[in-house]
Amino acid sequence: MSIKENLLKIKSSLPENVTLVAVSKTKPVADLLEAYNTGQRIFGENKIQEMTEKWEQMPKDIQWHMIGHIQTNKVKFMAPYVSLIHGVDSLKLLEEINKQAIKNNRIIDCLLQIHIAEEETKFGLNEEELKELLASESFKNLINIRIVGLMGMATFTENQSQIKKEFIHLKSIFDNYQQLKTENCQINTLSMGMSGDYQLAIACGSTMVRIGSSIFGGR
Ligand SMILES: *Cc1c(COP(=O)(O)O)cnc(C)c1O
Repeated sequence: MSIKENLLKIKSSLPENVTLVAVSKTKPVADLLEAYNTGQRIFGENKIQEMTEKWEQMPKDIQWHMIGHIQTNKVKFMAPYVSLIHGVDSLKLLEEINKQAIKNNRIIDCLLQIHIAEEETKFGLNEEELKELLASESFKNLINIRIVGLMGMATFTENQSQIKKEFIHLKSIFDNYQQLKTENCQINTLSMGMSGDYQLAIACGSTMVRIGSSIFGGR
């Protein structure tokens, strides 16, 4: 099936309240344009340099989401245009994003990444760290960033009940913080689910899915 057919099929299967991020990492601009011409306006990339090159070449009404792990010294390259940063997991990184947002006279939306998987290798905050971060004075002073939600990745496994357990866990943390509304924090987006597990993620309460290979093919 073509990118257009894949995209239309997935879009028609998503509930209205679920946002689709088309994950285009490693794919050429021609592939992104096919998705764009099918109506897709939100693209996800995991490398800042690659995303910036594509931003320069693609139409300007696209919302670019950074979904990968972020090196502090590269934040400045995406600060002028990035629409949402998914993988934020430290105060230090938030401080750098805030600093670069000020330079660009912007408020940059971020999701805090929560560690829900069993693997040690996946990045993210645990519940205690999340609580401490949101309660800290340093965080409250960062007024050029806005935390709009949480993001998580399940363990890489075939075990559906394991994945489901992790998604339900993340949803429960999300529910705990949805009431919290401050100047720089309004948690209402839950980014969870990829090609292999997005239907399960939606059933568990996801409001944003990040889908790559099911749209663009394998990498
Ligand atoms: C690559 C990637 C995805 C998309 O993965 P697919 O399995 O191709 O859908 C989603 N989220 C993150 C964080 C990724 O790095």
